[in-house]
Amino acid sequence: MTYPNTELFIDGRWQAAADERTLAVLDPSDGSEIGRVAHASKIDLDQALKAAQDGFERWRDLSPAERSGYMRSAAQLLRERADRIGILITREQGKPIAEATAEVLAAATIVEWFAEEGMRVYGRVVPSRSTPNMRQMVLKHAVGPVAAFTPWNFPINQVVRKLAAALSAGCSILIKAPEETPASPASLIQAFADAGVPAGVIGLVYGDPAEISSYLIAHPVIRKVTFTGSTPVGKQLAALAGLHMKRVTMELGGHAPVIVAEDADIAYAAIVAGRTKFLNAGQVCISPTRFLVHESVVKEFSGALANVANSLVVGNGLAAETQMGPLANERRLVALKQFTADAIECGASLLAGGNQIGQSGNFYQPTVLTDVPGNARVLNEEPFGPIAAVRSFNRIEEAIAEANGLPFGLAGYAFTNSIRNADLLARTLDVGMLWINQPPTPSPEMPFGGVKDSGYGSEGGPEAVEAYLNTKAVSTTAR
Ligand code: NAD
Repeated sequence: MTYPNTELFIDGRWQAAADERTLAVLDPSDGSEIGRVAHASKIDLDQALKAAQDGFERWRDLSPAERSGYMRSAAQLLRERADRIGILITREQGKPIAEATAEVLAAATIVEWFAEEGMRVYGRVVPSRSTPNMRQMVLKHAVGPVAAFTPWNFPINQVVRKLAAALSAGCSILIKAPEETPASPASLIQAFADAGVPAGVIGLVYGDPAEISSYLIAHPVIRKVTFTGSTPVGKQLAALAGLHMKRVTMELGGHAPVIVAEDADIAYAAIVAGRTKFLNAGQVCISPTRFLVHESVVKEFSGALANVANSLVVGNGLAAETQMGPLANERRLVALKQFTADAIECGASLLAGGNQIGQSGNFYQPTVLTDVPGNARVLNEEPFGPIAAVRSFNRIEEAIAEANGLPFGLAGYAFTNSIRNADLLARTLDVGMLWINQPPTPSPEMPFGGVKDSGYGSEGGPEAVEAYLNTKAVSTTAR
């Protein structure tokens, strides 16, 4: 299958950038150029903003059931095209083909759930305190055209959580998807276009992220901003949105603790946490990163975790036997080498991996470091790669304090067979999502989001639709 060039999707049409500028798209498995993506200019953005305003007026005025019908048709098309879109994800992002295809199918499920949830956007009727013939109503309205900014680690999934929630609420959406992985988000949008979603309801642009975000966020047409990516960029965009009083959802970086208590099933914990760690080569915002293990079981756990790391088949994501692909871009490879070298310099021991694989492409070994000192960079900055840092603790309260010691607060994991521990963790860990004795199971109906520097707002559950709604109080007195 040939890898396509990607154009901008504006007002229901695919088009080149007005000034015909393009950017290269690279294959992470060998660094070669596989295609080009259009680079939007201000002329294109102005056209896309006008279309988003017109599209909003069309979409808002449809009934929820009509909107739901379009969305369910798009989900069906995604299911039918999952194999083909999966190949695009692997070609441009690197993840194993099974993970890529699963991402497309998960996207279809997310769209279906929001298609239903959009039909349950209700208001309420509130009795008057004083006047029996007064009807007080709380109405929910779509917030307006949305600007969405998404990253390259889940090229489809990061878009679809924003797209589906916005459409279900009656908003139009203008998406700035990742330049490094442009073809699969374009296929996602094509499915909605083929399902008959009217022109202007969805726009898709690529270009210079900072230039596009500063223009769109400040623009009066845009009423809501949603971003997934790193904390530093999220803070900049949230500040800009604040300046222009725009509604915001921020899904930012994490540094997920995995607390393994002495009473846990250690073999099970190592396999579950290990497999989760190396999914998508660790380039996942909820990836487990800080393994805090009770001192009595830390040796056993670390050995079992290293076995998981050593057993993984790393290679080109298109090969059926591959369990972990290359890192998505060369920046991550450089960062991973630095994290490992720094940890070893600080005094950590290397138990598995620790090196680049080959000279071509961005392949890095699944890596386990133990006895990692608290000042090592890998324990303080989001590693965003296949590296597990293990430390021991004595009392669970110490582990919780350490887990809460960073500014991040996205996901957390724990393994324990004690109800007391499980309750304590659920009450006191500063995270938006906590999985105890299990792998992560994000689903459309569960909230997805973080606290502290990991952002605010949710991209799952009814809260995700609420994020795209304004509330209006209307009182009518019968006379
Ligand atoms: P980065 O901070 O440069 O970019 C992260 C994402 O934000 C990219 O998709 C990029 O296109 C976008 N971006 C950057 N500047 C922007 C701006 N001014 N306006 C709008 N969008 C902008 O880092 P990177 O090298 O691409 O990724 C590495 C880091 O990003 C990781 O360490 C990780 O913390 C974070 N990240 C997080 C997620 C997530 O799921 N939360 C996904 C990808 C990357």
